[in-house]
Amino acid sequence: MHKKLFIPGPVDVAEDVLQKMATPQISHRGKEASTLQRNISNKMRKVFNTKEEILLSTSSGSGLMEGAVRSCTAKRAAIFSVGAFGDRWFKMCTANGVPADKFDSEWGQPTTKKTIEDVLRTGKYDLITITMNETSTGLMNNIEDLSSVYKNYPEVVVCVDTVSNAAGTEVKVDEWAIDICITSTQKCLGLPAGMSICTFSKKAVARAKQVTNRGVYFDLLGLYDCIQKKDYQYTSTPSLSHMFALDYQLDKILKEGLNNRYARHIDNAKIVRTWAKKYFDIFPNEKFMSNTVTAIKNTRQIDVSDLNKKLGEKGFIISNGYGKLKDETFRIAHMAETTQQEIKALLETINGILGLK
Ligand SMILES: *Cc1c(COP(=O)(O)O)cnc(C)c1O
Repeated sequence: MHKKLFIPGPVDVAEDVLQKMATPQISHRGKEASTLQRNISNKMRKVFNTKEEILLSTSSGSGLMEGAVRSCTAKRAAIFSVGAFGDRWFKMCTANGVPADKFDSEWGQPTTKKTIEDVLRTGKYDLITITMNETSTGLMNNIEDLSSVYKNYPEVVVCVDTVSNAAGTEVKVDEWAIDICITSTQKCLGLPAGMSICTFSKKAVARAKQVTNRGVYFDLLGLYDCIQKKDYQYTSTPSLSHMFALDYQLDKILKEGLNNRYARHIDNAKIVRTWAKKYFDIFPNEKFMSNTVTAIKNTRQIDVSDLNKKLGEKGFIISNGYGKLKDETFRIAHMAETTQQEIKALLETINGILGLK
């Protein structure tokens, strides 16, 4: 039996979208491939609210995260971490020999303007990373608010991880002055894992030109140059299957309407939050709750693995807590094509298993 996925990626993929993965292959050096990538880029510009270039990568989001810090740090990177995925970005820096420092918020708390201001004022950094939606803690940073600080430092390349929220909640890349905004297919975009997408500003292009050891496969300038030189083609052989499905799914997303899609995610989140507050508690600071995944404090000390086993028998799966929060929290994702009806069915099933009234 297929278990309906309420985990923060991968997500369930609509049958017609899945079918598009089976489209017959085409040459990645033909006109058709250019048209496909250009169409995807034009649609992704709408999702990201940007006029800048869109890069595709045949990798999950982590590939572009690693490529971003490696390709665009000339001096030193400041990593603002609010959980596991911020920490991952720091690890990518050190493993690539990119000079970096990490500035942590307590798990469940956001990145603050004061922290960014204090760090950037030192003048030591020319690239920063921020996690918009931290999947490990169910927290969503307010990038618009934070941008009022980093906008005063025009020499800094701003990288934002929107892997678990882009296409599920609004992202305004140009207005928020984001240079590299990253997402991947298996979260709110509602596709299988295996492709990631980012924006790449002119400032990021100029910076990458000053960096010598950008690597090869995840050299973002390489991806950018290939688009310019080969009219929207990819440096190596991309997953054309993902591209067929992504192009199609973006049409569906735009047909639903981005604002309708965002409203649906918020409605979904509200149902889960209300349930969580009635029977458990919310893990992150409630002013910064994620619209796409809710991290719930395990105040009843339930055995989450056991709950998931029983849910599995009824055709559902949720997530335990991430890393050090494994037993302290559990997470219910409400992203991509998930409907209110499906969430209500999940919560009723959990109530039945745990005997909650
Ligand atoms: C899932 C996730 C990632 C990692 O993305 P992959 O596509 O699995 O490499 C990074 N950041 C956040 C916030 C995520 O939720």
